[in-house]
Amino acid sequence: MIKFNNISKKFGQNQVLTDVNINLEPSSLNSFLGPNGSGKTTLIKIFLGLVKPDTGNITDKDENILENYIYKENIGYMTQIANYPDNLTASDLMSLVIAVRSRKPVMKDELISLFKLEDSLKKPLKHLSGGTKQKVNAVIALMFDCPILVLDEPTVGLDPQSSRILKDLLIKERSLGKTILLTSHILQDVEELSDKLNVLIDGKIVYSGNKNELISQTGSQTLEDSIIKIYTAS
Ligand code: ADP
Repeated sequence: MIKFNNISKKFGQNQVLTDVNINLEPSSLNSFLGPNGSGKTTLIKIFLGLVKPDTGNITDKDENILENYIYKENIGYMTQIANYPDNLTASDLMSLVIAVRSRKPVMKDELISLFKLEDSLKKPLKHLSGGTKQKVNAVIALMFDCPILVLDEPTVGLDPQSSRILKDLLIKERSLGKTILLTSHILQDVEELSDKLNVLIDGKIVYSGNKNELISQTGSQTLEDSIIKIYTAS
């Protein structure tokens, strides 16, 4: 089990995360929800080793992973659309990522074909649509068959068919034992995919549990209603 233990973080005087405790089980999809600025990205960046917490740690099977750089090889990460150098092609980008990782890609061709990216690979990324770049990012996150997947707003910009393909892949990966962390504002995706919801408001976890409990605890009919209630109550 992966455990976030008492994570706190300040940027200057801005207390961005306060005493965050979360447990992530294997074979589970864990969504991180919260209004803009609530600290989701900072928490994910701490997990990825890109931001150092002021206090707290993250353990996997009781080992502190924040001090273990080799651990990062276990994580497949899908970013929000990044700014890449102008003339870099999708194929170049994949080669670059493969060159810096010690894992070898095992599903690259299968994923390229699933997302129908063959004709886009040799084009500069600047000529690709936002949705196509998202598909390239999905291939990069999934191709190494990492036991942990971190996906930041993965379905934004995807057409319905590609979004379905990605969601079915995540469902399959979870069934194969993976621990998946997802941020999304698309409640339909969150509702369909999540085993556990973690709701952050002003850097504090105000709910961590399954969606049905949240709906009943807040006396709501739908997940959307319960999320709105929890956002406005805090
Ligand atoms: P979310 O992902 O929920 O929108 P973020 O984690 O991006 O929230 O941001 C939480 C708060 O931390 C915001 O007030 C944001 O301005 C601040 N913040 C994030 N990154 C930095 C940084 N590198 N330096 C200073 N402040 C930051």
